[in-house]
Amino acid sequence: MQDKRKTLEFNKLQKRLRRNVGKAIMDFSMIEEGDKIMVCLSGGKDSYTLLDILMNLQKSAPVNFDLIAVNLDQKQPGFPEEVLPNYLATLDIPFEIIEEDTYSVVKRVIPEGKTTCGLCSRLRRGVIYGWAERNGITKIALGHHRDDMIETLFLNMFFGGSMKSMPPKLKSDDGKHIVIRPLAYCKEKDIAKFAQARQYPIIPCNLCGSQENLQRQNIKMMLQDWDRKYPGRIETIFKAMSNVAPSHLADTELYDFQGLTQDVLSHKAGGDTLFDTPDFTPRQEEEHEEEGSDTNSIQFVNIG
Ligand code: SF4
Repeated sequence: MQDKRKTLEFNKLQKRLRRNVGKAIMDFSMIEEGDKIMVCLSGGKDSYTLLDILMNLQKSAPVNFDLIAVNLDQKQPGFPEEVLPNYLATLDIPFEIIEEDTYSVVKRVIPEGKTTCGLCSRLRRGVIYGWAERNGITKIALGHHRDDMIETLFLNMFFGGSMKSMPPKLKSDDGKHIVIRPLAYCKEKDIAKFAQARQYPIIPCNLCGSQENLQRQNIKMMLQDWDRKYPGRIETIFKAMSNVAPSHLADTELYDFQGLTQDVLSHKAGGDTLFDTPDFTPRQEEEHEEEGSDTNSIQFVNIG
């Protein structure tokens, strides 16, 4: 009885993740016919889940695409280098372990006690982009999820003075690479439950010993606190990220305030409502997505 209930819950969870990934792929045109997608695996719960769901969707997707799982072994001390190859060898998928000692470079260049993540990420990005280019990769898939995106938005607002996050789809600065985040609509809680049920061989993410993520941890705690006190608030924040009104912010690059004349209708403004105080009833925070709700239409995959 207990097992049957667990199986039902797992199936529901898997279906929800697949639906959310399918919707993100559709909404942002992440995958096209003939794509060769490099799925970046770190050994954390998010990237294992990403690979799992993409492999699953690949079977029923209306377009043909290839997946290749890639891990970058940065030579951090204590990195269990056999874990990922052993796991990947059990899957029916090509994979590659890139070995590049970026750890030593970071240690050599950054003075003791200073944050290492900036340089570490840049080096990692360079290696991944280089490999992608040499191997005809058309899309680079990363395992960031909805909560990463919200945390990044707050990090940038609190410490960077800008309103930006991790976009679901991004073109690299040199224009050569398209990065996609198919888990953009997935909640971290769902991914954590899924990873636990799947019993992935998780590699701890603190091997480098960096304290970098302290601010991110603080933001995470703030958001978790909000989620406990005000159910639905996180969903509303995420909804806001896809409902931006440049005419109601103050970025002169995004909106032509200079060019406003009396006969120009402002974007999403709705004329007469311009001076009204927005009506935020308490219900708004309660209107969060019902778990398992099947209202999101998916055309990318038939989830049966
Ligand atoms: S936490 Fe460590 S591995 Fe991750 S980006 Fe920072 S320095 Fe690099």
